[in-house]
This record gives sequence, structure tokens and C-alpha cells, in this order.
Amino acid sequence: MAASQAASVVEKVIEHSDNATVTIDVSNHDKGAYGQETGEKIKATTWQGKDSSRCQSQVLWMKVTVESVGPTVKKVKAGDRVVAAFPIACGECRNCKEQLMSVCERTNENSITHAIHGKRTAGVFGYSHFTGGFAGGQAEYVRVPYGDVNPLQLPADVPDEKGLYRSDVLATAYHCVVDTGMKKGDVVAIWGGGPIGQMAVEYSFSQGATRVILIDGGEGAWRLDFVKSKISKLETIDFNNLPRGESILSQLKMIVPGGPDVALEFAAGEYAKGWAHYFEMLLGMETDTSEILNEMITAVRPFGRIGITGTNHFSIGALMQTGIRFIGNCQAPVQKYWEHLLKFIRRQEINPLDMVTHRVPLENMPELYAAFERRDQGMQKVYVQTRFSSPPAEGSPQLTDL
Ligand SMILES: [Zn+2]
Repeated sequence: MAASQAASVVEKVIEHSDNATVTIDVSNHDKGAYGQETGEKIKATTWQGKDSSRCQSQVLWMKVTVESVGPTVKKVKAGDRVVAAFPIACGECRNCKEQLMSVCERTNENSITHAIHGKRTAGVFGYSHFTGGFAGGQAEYVRVPYGDVNPLQLPADVPDEKGLYRSDVLATAYHCVVDTGMKKGDVVAIWGGGPIGQMAVEYSFSQGATRVILIDGGEGAWRLDFVKSKISKLETIDFNNLPRGESILSQLKMIVPGGPDVALEFAAGEYAKGWAHYFEMLLGMETDTSEILNEMITAVRPFGRIGITGTNHFSIGALMQTGIRFIGNCQAPVQKYWEHLLKFIRRQEINPLDMVTHRVPLENMPELYAAFERRDQGMQKVYVQTRFSSPPAEGSPQLTDL
């Protein structure tokens, strides 16, 4: 996106920090110091884009067969079937040792975020220059720094289509649920029914939530029926289809007297709630949506908890006055959770296939981006196959003709 491209230019002017211990030049062919130049074969990648300017660098979540490893890598071997996490972690710094891999201190040399926030995230594959400027994984080969930290082996009984999403969406949804302090018996409201919101619904129920209410609308309204078709006890609110004079808040107060215990946000920038934001989106000047955050603060019960996967400016008064726990969930520290997530998948407590609606060959990425740009309905989560992919596993979609 424009901000990311501008960040790249500014970085060139003010120069990088010297904290990073990895190179972002993943084409480095210095044999002996790295795995061999053929790299690792990506067997599948997953994709979720929002706008073309962001998508070109966005997204890598990949499953690979390891072709070679560098000389210091001990756990991962050539031939292993692995998934790579989107945050790149060193495994050794203070944050990594506390399993906060998404804020690793050694893999992002971007100096702008450090200047603004006083800290920075880890390097992230295929996201933006604010997160290190690493190339993404929409490719057939990738070089993964810190080979003993960032890939995780997949057992043979977990098919690609179920294992792949541990690298990002499954971990992001799970992290938001547990980081926000969801407890057994809670009533949970979730803003945004995309793939992360959908998986948060599954996690909330599996963690003991008694009720989950999913809120969406506009071009994303179809997702309410889609997610409910997978989890029938889900309750939904379509904000474009409310009774006359009603609002999300009034509906929530009616169906959950006193307000939900927990509110989770997976909708930042996805839809406009006020005219100012509508015009920002129209003009491509949108930053984030403060409207949703204010709505969440007003909706939850006193001392309720709110988890945010986006960012924003919002009115802080009600937050203090009503004791709301407002938690910015950061990027998910994927490596912290993925052993748990594997257990959930193997015990069939969650089913990642519930969100996978399409399977597309890597060569069709331009058409895929165009379809998502048009907001084609029914495209919840896409599995992108490469030349090295296995045939579709049972229960996963066949190849889609875009
Ligand atoms: Zn680290």
C-alpha cells in the first residue's frame, strides 16, 4: 500500500538500524553459509488479499518440502515437510525466549516504526517495509532465515490443506482469543466474519464460550450465512439489515442484556461505519476504523475485554470509566502456538477446511487478485497450489476455474 511504499523510500534516506541479524536479500547464494541455491520447494501457499497495492507484497504462508538447510540448522532436515511462520524470529533474543516471536528484536531493521512506536515488530515475510521488507511466499522456492526456529514439521496424518494455515490465520485467531483472556462461560461478540473471524468463532466455542455473536455486513454480509452454515449455534448480526431505528449496539444489548463479556475485532478497514470513513475508503485515504472500536467499547459489559487485531485512534473516556480491558493483540507469535494448534487439528476440535473455499494454481494469481478486488462473493479462504503440491485432500476444494 502507499504507506508501505513511502516507508521504503524514507528508509532508503534515513538508513536501516543495525539490530537485524538476517539479510532480506533472500536470493543470496553464498553457498556454505546458507542452504543450497535451489532453496525449498513450496508445495502450497495461502492467500488473502485486500487491495492490489497491498497484495503485491502481502502474504506468505507456506508449506514446503525442505530441499536443503544451512550448516548450522540442526532440527530441520532436507526432505522434511514443514510450514513456515509469517513472523521471522531468531529464537534467541529476550522476546523470542519468552515466546513473543512476532516482536523478535533481531529480524527487522526498519527504523521508522522504531522511531514512531519506540519498538518494532519482527520481520514478516511478504508484508511491508515496516516489517522488514522481506519478499513474500507466492513463489515455488523460498529461503527461510533461522531454519531451526521458523519452520515446523508437519506429521503425515495432517494433510496440507489442514496444516498450512497454522502459519498465520489459525494462529492469529487463536492468539486473539487467548490473549484477550477469554474464559469458559463467556459471551463473545466478533466483528468481521472473514477467515480469521471465522476461526475465532470456532476457537471461542472450543474454549468454552456459551454464545458467540458474529457481526458483519455490506459486501461481507454473505460471510454471516457462510460461517453459520459451518457452526449452526452461531448467532449473527447483519449491520445493513437491521430493523428500522436499530443499531448494532441496540441489537447486542437486546440479545445480550448487559453486554457481551468479550469483543474481538477482525474487521479493521474492511467496511465503513461512518460517512467520514466511507469517503476515506473511497479516496484510498483510509487509515483504520475508529467507529468499530468505539462500538466495541460501548457494547461490552463493564470490565469486559476487547481484543484488537487492527489499530486505531478512539475515544478513551469510556474505556477508563467502565473498566474495559482493551488489548492490542500484536501480530500473532505463531511459533508459540503451533504445537497446540496441531493438537486441535488432530483431535478435530477445529477444522481449518471449514474456511477453505477455493483452490487456485499459482499461475492464476492475477485473476485471483482481480476476483478479490471485485469482492466476489463466496471467496473466504484460498489454497494456492504450486507445481509441487499434492492432489487435493479429502474434504478440500477441487481446482477452481476463475
Ligand atoms: Zn528474536
